[in-house]
Amino acid sequence: MTDAARPGATKLAVVVVDVRGFHVVNDNLGRHTGDTLLRLVAQRLRANARASDTLGRIGGDQFGLILTDVANETQIGHILEKIFGALAEPFPVNGEQVRLSVKGGVTVFPTATDGASADALLTNAEAVLKKAKASPETYLFYAPHINAANANRLALENKLRRALDERQFVLHYQPKVESQTGRIVGLEGLLRWNEPEQGLIPPYRFIPLLEETGMILDVGGWVLRQAMTDFQKLQASGLPPPRIAVNVSAMQMRQKDFPGYVAAAIGDAGTSGLDIEITESVLMDDIERHIRALRQIGNMGIGVALDDFGTGYSSLSYIARLPANTLKIDQSFVADMTTSSEKLAIVSAVISLGHALDMTIVAEGVETEEQSKLLKLIKCDEMQGYLFSKPVPLDQIEVMLANQGAVPRTSESSDSRGTSMRRGHRLVRPLS
Ligand code: C2E
Ligand code: MG
Ligand code: MG
Repeated sequence: MTDAARPGATKLAVVVVDVRGFHVVNDNLGRHTGDTLLRLVAQRLRANARASDTLGRIGGDQFGLILTDVANETQIGHILEKIFGALAEPFPVNGEQVRLSVKGGVTVFPTATDGASADALLTNAEAVLKKAKASPETYLFYAPHINAANANRLALENKLRRALDERQFVLHYQPKVESQTGRIVGLEGLLRWNEPEQGLIPPYRFIPLLEETGMILDVGGWVLRQAMTDFQKLQASGLPPPRIAVNVSAMQMRQKDFPGYVAAAIGDAGTSGLDIEITESVLMDDIERHIRALRQIGNMGIGVALDDFGTGYSSLSYIARLPANTLKIDQSFVADMTTSSEKLAIVSAVISLGHALDMTIVAEGVETEEQSKLLKLIKCDEMQGYLFSKPVPLDQIEVMLANQGAVPRTSESSDSRGTSMRRGHRLVRPLS
């Protein structure tokens, strides 16, 4: 295993920075001004690099910068965006504002391509600097694939930074229905990004970047507040509002004071009717602390669901200790349950286990009547999936709830756990 592949290992980057057209400044404003300008460039480089980075002059109008202890190319990109962004601003010399064109070439160590010695890294950084000078890019990495990935990522990141201010995020809701009656007993809030040019973008395309950049704290806070605002809206319209569950990321959970973070995000919208969904893997790193935080969350009247259950590696004794009230069986089990007896046995066992721990069991990704019937038979409490409804905007949920309210309650019965349930029609129709 190379050092770079080992967890926690760090990389370094060699950056050659070239101030273009410098001789034009020298010729027009004089050598003295030229020197002043170079000093200003050096100062600005220093001010925008990190304290640990090494800066030196390696030629008439070239600087060398060594970034040490960087985790990956993404982080290098961030540091360079800051530095080259600052160098693009005008420099005040002799009462004038002088703009410079600054270019950079970047090599990274260790990699398979960029060089294994200081000499090779510098030579290759200079080689790619030549390409940068001939291209519209401000700086280029020696490994070409990084340039494309870096540019895409930065463009997406910039758009995401604007998305929250420009109210481009929307929260859709998917109903959870009670297995025995088909009534909507809960909603899951699912985030979408309404990007002006591309339309609705699903979470898998932007949530990882929100998590990587820390923007998930603000966006996740918005989700919590929006869910509770929508809950109040349903309440105000006279419909008994189902509880609303919101997905919470690892980074949100790792906040020093997670309950405080949740309370602050929601503000005066109140936490009544709120559940959070977390995945098993989120809890693994610091179980004791998370258990304490989740107890506090429970005291705030917020329910806790374990999402995508079955895909992690939780031990039974660990689940028993978790202050969670709901288990959501991952959709991969539900999808295979009707064809694989093994999967069916697992689903059935998870339901028994959950019930023994006094938890509500929800099956995710229910798409067919066959799955729904089977789940009912093995006493799964609630179901969620395209069979009942895709995630939809709140106004469509209001219509579904209104229809549900209008249907006469024909008969009542009790399930094995003693909960009063209503049998009868399915009120949320499968999508055609
Ligand atoms: P999840 O929490 O497990 O959400 C369930 C996902 O399954 C949703 O995908 C939902 O649209 C999809 N789904 C529901 N029924 C069916 C079905 O019958 N068949 C199939 N094939 N899929 C079904 P979506 O909305 O794309 O969300 C994906 C994941 O993104 C979520 O998985 C959740 O982990 C994450 N996510 C969504 N919204 C948020 C959010 O606000 N914050 C955070 N941190 N994560 C979110
Ligand atoms: Mg979920
Ligand atoms: Mg899930």
